[in-house]
Amino acid sequence: MARLTFLGAAKTVTGSQYVVEAGGDRLMVDCGMFQGSKELRLRNWEPPRVEPASLRALVITHTHIDHIGRVPRLVKQGFKAPIYCTPATRELAEVLLLDSARLQEEDAAYFNKKRLTKHDPALPLYQEADVEAALPLFKTLPLNTVQEAGPSFSFRFQDAGHLLGAASVDLTLREGGRETRVFFSGDVGRFDTVLAHNPELAPPADYLVVESTYGNRSHPLVPVSEQLEAVLLRTFARGGVLLIPAFAVGRAQQMLVLMHDLVQRGRVRPFPIHLDSPMAIEATRIYSSHPEGHAPSLSTIGGRDLFIDKWVSVQRTRAESEALNKRKGPAVIISSSGMLSGGRILHHCRQRLPHPENTLLITGYQAEGTLGRRLLDGAHTVRIHKGDVEVRAEVTDLKGLSGHADAREMVHWLSRVAPPPRRVFITHGEELAAMALGALLQKERGFTTHVPGPDEVVELP
Ligand SMILES: [Zn+2]
Repeated sequence: MARLTFLGAAKTVTGSQYVVEAGGDRLMVDCGMFQGSKELRLRNWEPPRVEPASLRALVITHTHIDHIGRVPRLVKQGFKAPIYCTPATRELAEVLLLDSARLQEEDAAYFNKKRLTKHDPALPLYQEADVEAALPLFKTLPLNTVQEAGPSFSFRFQDAGHLLGAASVDLTLREGGRETRVFFSGDVGRFDTVLAHNPELAPPADYLVVESTYGNRSHPLVPVSEQLEAVLLRTFARGGVLLIPAFAVGRAQQMLVLMHDLVQRGRVRPFPIHLDSPMAIEATRIYSSHPEGHAPSLSTIGGRDLFIDKWVSVQRTRAESEALNKRKGPAVIISSSGMLSGGRILHHCRQRLPHPENTLLITGYQAEGTLGRRLLDGAHTVRIHKGDVEVRAEVTDLKGLSGHADAREMVHWLSRVAPPPRRVFITHGEELAAMALGALLQKERGFTTHVPGPDEVVELP
């Protein structure tokens, strides 16, 4: 009988990885990294539960590291089948996986230097060479095109909104002369959000695997652009600089579009924007070359010519980045990392936080223990690069710019699913969020739902 194993994102939001077995064959959906607590991160090091060489294919929903971060390791462990994803995901994956490898090599080197490890020497999960070895296995597949993967599987991608290239996976299993349809949501984006498409509604299926990141929450009603307008006007009235730590892929591009729109509508006078992150610059180039992948197109702010646009300047080198220290307001600096856990944003913080005219604008979720979280919680002094930095600047955040549909939006996304599936598996959420979404779908739609635990195996009769 066909089976589905939940190897990650089960009662947690990271480590997405599922294996489907049918007709004696195996296919994997997503191969993400576990992130967050040490207990979770240790799971990245566990031996594979399924022999990598036995897989017929790996199907990737999108390029976030919690969905692709373990791909180079899987290849290192013997996987050699095709890795299917959309064309934009392939381009972004190269940028993000190489960055991920570099971060791990740096971390390992740091632990070894500080002798902070019981392992001697500390090793990275994988290296740049492992990413280079994995890239030739990637095969791109446009949305809504059916792909066969051996005698037992076929699948197609469907637009999931969320992020450039992000898709749901509509998988058909063939076994014993009958077909079973299993639909994987991937990460489902918000409706009517900035830059990303609306997610395409889920089709009827025999089984669904549904994400629940915001399964017990609802997004605020004040539009993001109104919040941003108020922050810009306040900061510029003080003659300050607005510092925006942003995730290089997705969030940085959304911020560019939002600010362009405010200037276009005459809500804010034109001001210089500095995009100070090589990875964000590269990701913006990829976004610009895929106008079909988002709405409105980035071409509205210059498209491929974005980098010579008169009001967006880019800082590729460290020297260019440091030259920004002399810049006076009004101006905006967008820099990584999004949670202030490293990168160039740190030297901007050291420079700008002690001055009350400036603003630090947080644009996304800040994990426990990060500098971003401490600043949002109102720290008066923070430690950056071994020095104490006094915080006199305004620190605030934009609410509702999430990449994930909330509970009501998920109910809407599932509105075309009829008759009820045999079972709906709720994954990719903390346990409370997953249980809440499961209960909501039971109550409103009469769906039979189940929240699987880590490594749980279910049969698909
Ligand atoms: Zn995602």
